Amino acid sequence: MPDLTPNPPPRLISIVCPCYNEVGGLGEFVRRISAVFEPAGQAFEIVFVNDGSTDGTLADMRALALAHDFVTVVNLSRNFGKEIAMTAGLGEASGDAVVVIDADLQDPPEVIPDFIAAYCEGYDVVYGRRTEREGETWMKKATAHSFYRVMQNLGPVRLPEDVGDFRLMSRRAVDALMQMPETHRFMKGLFAWIGFPSREIPYRRHPRFHGTTKWNYRKLIGLSIEGITSFSTFPLRVTSFLGLAIAVLAFVAGVYFFVRSLLYGDPVRGFPTLYVTILLLGGTQLLALGIIGEYLGRVFNETKRRPLYFVESVVPARRLVGDDSADDEMRERAS
Ligand code: UDP
Ligand code: MG
Repeated sequence: MPDLTPNPPPRLISIVCPCYNEVGGLGEFVRRISAVFEPAGQAFEIVFVNDGSTDGTLADMRALALAHDFVTVVNLSRNFGKEIAMTAGLGEASGDAVVVIDADLQDPPEVIPDFIAAYCEGYDVVYGRRTEREGETWMKKATAHSFYRVMQNLGPVRLPEDVGDFRLMSRRAVDALMQMPETHRFMKGLFAWIGFPSREIPYRRHPRFHGTTKWNYRKLIGLSIEGITSFSTFPLRVTSFLGLAIAVLAFVAGVYFFVRSLLYGDPVRGFPTLYVTILLLGGTQLLALGIIGEYLGRVFNETKRRPLYFVESVVPARRLVGDDSADDEMRERAS
């Protein structure tokens, strides 16, 4: 049980929502969020991040910003991927507590008050743990499960299982997260790495309300490799042990063949042995090189020290700037 200092109720809650091709679904999203906060009199803002959508998502967002004074629209200069889009949204959020949630309403906004209650108890990070995943194939569930298992055993930080990006973070947790400069942003890992008292709230994950998923197996495999290589050097160590084991094996085999030919002479035989040995060694060497390459590539990307993203424009929520003409105002900025 962590030593908790209670937080005062948040004066402002920011809801950060990264969106890529979510046209048509955002109106319902705003309705569901407002229905949670408006009756309770809780001040809130919704930070929509348009992650380079190719459909009418941006126009939808702008219309919503005109209709509601609590909507902020951050337009990225291209598609950077969800992890970066989230980071951009967190950078723009001004609340004492920030909630990250997907646009597709798979994560019900109705549990956010429970997050806030836990925040008030003093937790800095409150994440939702999915008890059921409706509308997802058993393949996806199984692969997700084994990924968490692997990460659990490899990394220095424990990744909570069945936890997505749906979570609430205190201001200091957000500030900590924004201090991490790495280009390879495996958010689930970064969230876990910052530490601070955290707590999970179970909830039921629903099927997508609108539109289609942006994830496919190629992206998921990429994300898994990202997760493992940005939080663990274990694969590098495995190759060292593998190399050592093979060397020992080779030495033992060498002694065996030497003694055998002394005792029984050396008729020309053993092609299968040769063949298998060469293949085995070649294969393991290439594998080891590949793993080193994965890390080297990441070192390469990090040393370039590129900015994480570029913001094309920001329309801040009118409620926050207290100015009705704010929707015309575009703050050009690069971060
Ligand atoms: N998303 C994004 N950029 C991308 C891909 C997805 O901002 O390149 C957003 C998407 O709009 C959604 C969230 O990330 O709000 C989760 O995506 P999705 O629902 O497709 O993933 P799933 O829930 O199937 O894991
Ligand atoms: Mg989804």
